[in-house]
Amino acid sequence: MATISSNATVTDAPKPFDSPKADIILRSSDGIDFRFFKVLLSLSSPLFSSMFDLPSAKADHDDLRRDGLPVLVVQEDSHVLTGLLGFLRPCGAPQFDTLELFSRVFQTADKYGMEDVMGALESMLMASKFMESEPGAVYAVACTYKLEKPARAAAKLTLRQSMLFPFSSMLESASAASLYRLIIYHQACVESALQALRTLALRNHPTPSRSCTCLWATSPLKGSEVLVKQWFWDYVQAISNDITRVLCGEAIHCVASRLSDVKACSYCREAAMMVFSRFVENLQDEVDVAVSQIKIEIKF
Ligand SMILES: [Zn+2]
Repeated sequence: MATISSNATVTDAPKPFDSPKADIILRSSDGIDFRFFKVLLSLSSPLFSSMFDLPSAKADHDDLRRDGLPVLVVQEDSHVLTGLLGFLRPCGAPQFDTLELFSRVFQTADKYGMEDVMGALESMLMASKFMESEPGAVYAVACTYKLEKPARAAAKLTLRQSMLFPFSSMLESASAASLYRLIIYHQACVESALQALRTLALRNHPTPSRSCTCLWATSPLKGSEVLVKQWFWDYVQAISNDITRVLCGEAIHCVASRLSDVKACSYCREAAMMVFSRFVENLQDEVDVAVSQIKIEIKF
C-alpha cells in the first residue's frame, strides 16, 4: 500500500485547488494534494488557526514539504476535502451528489469547528433535492448533527411516504429515540387527519333524493348518530385507509379522485360525483391544516 507521507505517491487536485499562489498543501487520505491558503483555513476554523499560530505545531507540519510548501496530511479523503474547501473559497458553494457525502463533509466541518460552513451546510440541506427524494434519511442526518430546522422539515415530508420508508445507511447514525419520535409523530398526524376526515364527512354528507333506493350505512360515522348512505360511507372508509399511507392533502387528493366506482342508485349516482369532487377539494385543505398543527418532538 502506498504511503501518502511520500511525495512520490501523490497526485494533484484539479482546479481550483492547484493555485500557484497557495501557501499550504492539504494531502487527503487517498493521496491527493490540495493547494490552499492558510488564511482561509484560519478564518474558518479555530483549530487551523491555532495550529498555524503555534510555533511547535508549525514546526511539525512543516516537516513534510513539497515544492517549498508545507504539507499537512489529513484524515479526510479527496471527496470530503473538495466539498469542505469549496465552502471556504469566495466563489460558489459545492454541490453534493449523495447525502452520504453531505454527511461526511458536515462531520468534518464539525470536527474542525467550522461554524460558518456548518451553517451553510444546514441551509443547503433545507433546499436540497434530498429533502424530497429521501426525507427519512435527511431526518436521520439532521438528528445526528442536531439540526432542528431540517429535522422538522424532513419529518413532515416523510408523511408523504409509508412509515417504512426505504432504508438508508444514514439511519445507522441516528438514535433510536429520534426514530421513535418520528413514529409517534406519524401516528399523531394520522389521527389528526382521520379526525379532520370524519368532521368533514359529518358536515358534508349528501342528502339523498326521496326516490333514492340506496342502503343506509349500517355503521354511522364514528362518534355520531348521523346516518349516511352506504356509498358515501364506503367512500369515506376508502379515504380513511389511504390516509394511513399518505398524509399530505395533495396525495390524498390524487387517491380520492380515483374513487369513481359509486355503488349508488340512479338518483344518487350523478349527485355522488359532484359530492366527491367538492369533498376532495375541501379534504385536501382540511388534512393539510390538521397535520400542520402536529409538531414532532425534537430532542438532541
Ligand atoms: Zn340513492
